[in-house]
Amino acid sequence: MRSIFDITISELETLLVSENFKKYNATQVFEGIYKKQVNSFSEINNISKELKIYLEENFKIDKLEVLEKLESSDTIKYLLLIDNASIECVLMKHNYGNSLCISTQVGCNMGCAFCESGTLKKIRNLSVSEIVLQVITIEKINNIKLDNIVIMGIGEPFDNYDNLIKAIDIFTTNKGMNIGSRRITVSTCGLVPKIKSFALLKTQVNLAISLHASNDKIRNKLMPINKLYNIKEVMEAIDYYIDKTNRKVTIEYILLDGINDSLDNARELANLVKGKLVYVNLIPYNATSHSEFKRCDKEKIDRFYKELITLNVNAIVRREMGKGIKGACGQLRASYEKKDI
Ligand code: SF4
Repeated sequence: MRSIFDITISELETLLVSENFKKYNATQVFEGIYKKQVNSFSEINNISKELKIYLEENFKIDKLEVLEKLESSDTIKYLLLIDNASIECVLMKHNYGNSLCISTQVGCNMGCAFCESGTLKKIRNLSVSEIVLQVITIEKINNIKLDNIVIMGIGEPFDNYDNLIKAIDIFTTNKGMNIGSRRITVSTCGLVPKIKSFALLKTQVNLAISLHASNDKIRNKLMPINKLYNIKEVMEAIDYYIDKTNRKVTIEYILLDGINDSLDNARELANLVKGKLVYVNLIPYNATSHSEFKRCDKEKIDRFYKELITLNVNAIVRREMGKGIKGACGQLRASYEKKDI
């Protein structure tokens, strides 16, 4: 049976009209499911008995089971069971509100060398409902309303493009969850054709590009996707995106000790982003026990950051969250799958 969380409002309107219900019934169902977060269709008071029966016969209101939960003062990391597989999502409590980082695939095929998620190959894409249900599940069990959604958990979102776009539609519809587009961020490792398609949608959703290197030699070693779409092509796609949307793009840059953290690297990076409507998010690396990379010390991070600022680059060092609770992306799932928690 199909999950009710798989369907967008316009798809539900079309479906209900074709079944001789009214178009506005879709709004009533969405308000019941997303605003009141009912657990059964019978709890939606303002719809007819016939519609309740139709929904019960054709849709399920499913939920995700929590397999593991790791908590620190500002972060809760969840491992969720999805149809015999597991995925991670991370609730972060900022002073400006609650953010949830969600996954889009079971595993990831992009193979970024520094990423724990990439050690477990992609098994499959998440369905629309599995993306949406991460948000619903975390809101329900914590009795909270999320302020921000960050789509940079396990998987490459643009490698599951169609389901991602539908999930964003569901997140943002004012008849349902009504999360502002500007409160959603999608992060990609640089799938150029999809960045361009996303630009043409002209949403207000924030785009983050995982660059992590200042030249192709380093990026080829860190991110195999660079052999398909090199830095020049990614930068052109960023220009295209900014041209179409007039939205600022975030450049993600993980600082890895002795790999991409020199002053020359900072200058190369400044050259790449010069004159573009971007800001650079410097991310101190969260080392794992078996990782080949090391974290830069604070002096190196400061030196890199100050060089960017001197060169008039808009940059920040990301505040770290979730340290000590398998904070790196995919770490909880990787340790669970490898059964060494
Ligand atoms: S960083 Fe993102 S794209 Fe790269 S392997 Fe990890 S999950 Fe995949």
